[in-house]
Amino acid sequence: MILLLLLLASVAASAQISTPTMYRPQIFDVQHYDAAITFPDPTKKTIVGDVSITVKWTAGASKPSFPFHLRGLTIDSVFVNDVVSSAVTLGEASSDTMHHRVTLKNDVVAGQTDIVRVFYHGVMSDEGGSSPWGGVHYQDSVLYALGVGFKNSYVSSTQHWLACYDHPSDKATFFARFTVPVTPWKLASVGREVFTREPWPNGFAIYRWSEDHPTSTYLLTFAVAPYTKIEMSGVVPHVFYTLPRDSSKSARSFILVPRMTETFAKKYGNYPFDKVGYCNTQIGAMEHQTMISFNVSIAQKADSQNVTAAHELAHQWFGDCVSPLDFRYAWLTESFATYSECVWVEELRGFPIYLRAVAEKATAYLKNISKSEGVFALENFPRVDPSSNYPQTIYAKGAVVVAMMRAIAGDEPFFSAMKRYQSVKKYGTAVTEDMRDAVRPALGTRTDAFFDEWVTGIGWPQLHVNTDITGSDHVVTITQEQQKLHPTWPIFTTLPLNVVYTRNGFAGIDTIDAVMYFDSTGTLEFTCTQLLSVNIGTKCRSLVEITKTTSVFDFYEKNEASQTFTLAPNPANDSVTLSRIDGSAAIKISIVNERGATLLTQMCAQNESQCLMDIRSLTNGAYSIIIDDGKTPRRLPLTVTRGE
Ligand SMILES: [Zn+2]
Repeated sequence: MILLLLLLASVAASAQISTPTMYRPQIFDVQHYDAAITFPDPTKKTIVGDVSITVKWTAGASKPSFPFHLRGLTIDSVFVNDVVSSAVTLGEASSDTMHHRVTLKNDVVAGQTDIVRVFYHGVMSDEGGSSPWGGVHYQDSVLYALGVGFKNSYVSSTQHWLACYDHPSDKATFFARFTVPVTPWKLASVGREVFTREPWPNGFAIYRWSEDHPTSTYLLTFAVAPYTKIEMSGVVPHVFYTLPRDSSKSARSFILVPRMTETFAKKYGNYPFDKVGYCNTQIGAMEHQTMISFNVSIAQKADSQNVTAAHELAHQWFGDCVSPLDFRYAWLTESFATYSECVWVEELRGFPIYLRAVAEKATAYLKNISKSEGVFALENFPRVDPSSNYPQTIYAKGAVVVAMMRAIAGDEPFFSAMKRYQSVKKYGTAVTEDMRDAVRPALGTRTDAFFDEWVTGIGWPQLHVNTDITGSDHVVTITQEQQKLHPTWPIFTTLPLNVVYTRNGFAGIDTIDAVMYFDSTGTLEFTCTQLLSVNIGTKCRSLVEITKTTSVFDFYEKNEASQTFTLAPNPANDSVTLSRIDGSAAIKISIVNERGATLLTQMCAQNESQCLMDIRSLTNGAYSIIIDDGKTPRRLPLTVTRGE
């Protein structure tokens, strides 16, 4: 028993806290934050804080220590169970794990809870840099906090105003008593507004907010402004905080949000919290739990389709109800929220417009984002420039990857999988494996390959579409050629490719609109009367690039033209000569390109055994010479290479 305790003590003493991209198990589990926060003058970003943290020990230990984050503010005093204590600061401000640590004077047993209380004050700051995001801002007469940083090393940025164990892995309930000057301020925050007393003596008002569902700290927030409140009903109460000057445009921008909530509840499972809330802020949007900080310029557009509002609302399921264990798994939040923009468009405007929305994300990724950010995986992506804590890749590519999941699974199995993920991980945290488990019944035997190719793998399929148009049926061969230029990109065996083609049916020509898959060598082959389109159709849009389209006259090759005809020189430059053994008949010679278009024709007269052709009009490339004697057409390959 003693030995065990000593062993645990040494583990506790050397325990390192989790980093933004490396969850490390701890011997504690924060249960609750009870905060009394005063903003004496919102315009000056000043704060006086008093936070009691309920810490539950999950293992016994001798005099363990508890780490908490607080950045840019002064700690006045620390208590453990009402007994004065102290905290030491570990790490430089630039460190991704800079924190404070309070050591208990007593031993603890598993299941025991202690209250760590921190008093602090100061002027709240943001993450810094050229365009700060995470942390606290005062702009446009709104004092507000954004829970994550794009460029800082520590990501979770609630530590700019709340003393807390600021890591998404440790979710806790939250209660706050905010004190602010009565005039002209109103305060919005997370959860339920349980009580408001206004005015309090001395010209201050008190707002009490309670989030009774476990919350990752990066999803906590507040906003103080001369707000007016717009309320709407729905499956839960909806509340929108807006500056009076924006209230009519905001009312229009948010008018469809209750329908969004209903739509996502049908697709992903019941709305998991007590209310839906938005507050207009200068920068954003950010999916704080039940109080979304929403970029005022979007609210001012008065666009009721409001896909950004839909994105943030979908986060209440993906990110808030089920949070990432650490930020390597940010794709579990952003890819699904971005995909949900397409789901919302589908609800409003139908499936063809949904397909267009998915295709736009694919195009944005292939044409712009992959070029500006580089090519990397959705999970555990790089964070240095030109990437960041939230690169566009996990939004745009991620959304198309989720759309392909649905295309493979089918609608009902896909949305059942989403509901399963939500119910299994409800109010908890998740890693990629949890999503893989949830969608396994929907994706079946393709599950593991799908995640290996699209989530932890890099790149995308680059297709060569070749049509052999010589027979009565065309033979279409589509090959993945990305490994020629990118050997580390996989062959995508789980690419759902929407192909449209015609074929002869009983009553004439049928048009087939189908989803097809590649074999393990990255090849897909089928016959048709005519290929109409690739990655266009009514079924799905996928992340593919068609880099080459060709037609080949295989038929001519089979006639062994080379036995009676020779071509020289080949490769040719300005001219080429066709020689023939049998010159008894006149022949017609045509030069065609890879697509089958005829570029030059010339007659070769009877008894003329050598025909010289002027090919100066041809550009460098591969061609076919078609020899037609009126009986059997034959083909010879010709290459034109001309020095610059
Ligand atoms: Zn998002």
